[in-house]
Amino acid sequence: MTDRPPLSLVTAVAPPLLAELERRFTVHRASPPADTRAMVAGGASLIDAEMLDALPRLEIIAVHGVGHDGIDLDAARARGIRVTTTPDVLTDDVADQAIALMLAVQRRIAVNDRMVRDGGWRVPLGRRASGRRIGIFGLGRIGQAIARRAEPFAAELRYTARSAKPDLPWQFVPDIAALAAASDVLILAAPGGAATHHIVDADVLAALGADGVLVNIARGSLVDEATLIAALAGGTIAGAGLDVFAAEPDVPRALRHMDHVVLAPHQGSATESGRAAMAALVLANLDAHFAGQPLPTPLV
Ligand code: NAP
Repeated sequence: MTDRPPLSLVTAVAPPLLAELERRFTVHRASPPADTRAMVAGGASLIDAEMLDALPRLEIIAVHGVGHDGIDLDAARARGIRVTTTPDVLTDDVADQAIALMLAVQRRIAVNDRMVRDGGWRVPLGRRASGRRIGIFGLGRIGQAIARRAEPFAAELRYTARSAKPDLPWQFVPDIAALAAASDVLILAAPGGAATHHIVDADVLAALGADGVLVNIARGSLVDEATLIAALAGGTIAGAGLDVFAAEPDVPRALRHMDHVVLAPHQGSATESGRAAMAALVLANLDAHFAGQPLPTPLV
């Protein structure tokens, strides 16, 4: 017998967080047992109503991340299950990653690194990364942090979101195709889910144009990946920096062979200090819940 409540871990977490969870809970890493009272999930974990029905004692889902597109929030709300995320503490790291990808694609950082490692020494010309027209799709926490970092590189900076932000200095464009047409670099920073599924389609890529670069640090689901591959192969756009993919960890073979593409393993928040802060927030939410105190970062 144990007085540690059962907790299901449905995402990979670093050893220090796992150790802290195991101090507080009886941690299950296979399929969640029916008496699970808490769950630690990832930003892209799939938790639907059917799964929740099988877990009648579940009280809280602590998401280790900020995305929640795989979680049926209405179903959680209807069952009185609390949901928390780890906002703010990862914002700067993800924004840094967007800028890193933006620069790496235009200045051929990754492909030239591979060439030099292979003993080569040529200097193929990249694109000037300054003075670009930059468009950001999704101007929430991360999108705004990207915008602040992108300003020195931007001749013009525009954004699309659900609503205009009159207090912010950048130009609102209500439609992503119009944003793409007005951008040399299009950076995706909006949530996944039905409303944004494949929102980057052939029309958006055509609007971005042959000199345009796509950067995605949001979710793979925002991009019609097959269409993106065709656009990259056919020169419809100039390049892409991708932190996220449609069917992670599967990365299409075609993308892996493209020199005008920079690939990253969904590492936007993956810094030592960022992950430590995320772990602390997961624990703080769980501790608050089981102590009957207000949750630090509730979503539901
Ligand atoms: P956030 O603060 O909630 O901001 C989301 C932004 O997207 C808001 O500006 C929102 O518009 C906009 N938006 C939402 N739905 C939209 C739609 N249908 N059309 C146009 N714009 C829409 O979220 P965040 O903290 O910035 O995070 C954004 C996303 O980044 C997360 O959902 C997650 O998927 C992704 N992410 C990726 C990583 C990584 O490692 N690569 C790490 C963390 C997060 P309004 O402002 O008008 O509401």
